[in-house]
Amino acid sequence: MNLLLFEQQDLLAPGRAQISGRRLQHLLHTHKAVVGQSFRAGLLGGCQGQARLLEIDNQQALFDVQLDRAPPAKLPVTLVLALPRPKMLRRILQNVASMGVARLVLVNSFRVEKSFWQTPFLQPAAVREQLILGLEQARDTVLPEVILEKRFKPFVEDRLGQLAAGCHKLVAHPGEFAPCPRGLDEPLCLAIGPEGGWIEYEVGLLRQQGFVPVQLGERILRVETAVTALLARLF
Ligand code: SAH
Repeated sequence: MNLLLFEQQDLLAPGRAQISGRRLQHLLHTHKAVVGQSFRAGLLGGCQGQARLLEIDNQQALFDVQLDRAPPAKLPVTLVLALPRPKMLRRILQNVASMGVARLVLVNSFRVEKSFWQTPFLQPAAVREQLILGLEQARDTVLPEVILEKRFKPFVEDRLGQLAAGCHKLVAHPGEFAPCPRGLDEPLCLAIGPEGGWIEYEVGLLRQQGFVPVQLGERILRVETAVTALLARLF
């Protein structure tokens, strides 16, 4: 937890915030927090600054907060990701939030197992929890937007054009394609496939929407590694 992230309901009065639960336990046991100590803090969806600890016990902690700095800029990225398996999904949600992706679209694909859509980790509260862990890690306060698209073809044919309007459009796909570019300086829509990869039909539909297949070399990376490697290379 590199940022103490407050939510609206933690604010008691102007300049006063109170926390309990997970964040309190983390302060007590990891930070060994003591009264008077200051922490980097932020308000979810708002500014960042400092929080000075006024009182702490096993139930709650009270802070004096001064939040006056803007959060870091988001990456101008819409990431279209074939829904990963549940365990990987949680880590990817954290990574996506930590890396500053502005918008994540979790999409079905031929090689996504149907059962993955049933996971409790896709419930809005569970998704939010992982995104918040990612924000705390990276010292950001703004949640990425998350969209679920359970049908690939209607999404790509009817909605992707508008979502990706004005963006550079890339689909990561191992093979004899152009190497993935480096250091882009423009909005990007990037499609990353499932563990088994995109099928050619899917790459064809994405191409029809203006997506260009690119590759990262002959090593096939795990989806979560590919997400980080592609974003790091592209920005
Ligand atoms: N066997 C699959 C590999 C899937 S890896 C295949 O041959 O397509 C999961 C996803 O990560 C891929 O769909 C792609 O989007 C991305 N990825 C992983 N390694 C990559 C590489 N070397 N080049 C481009 N994309 C890669």
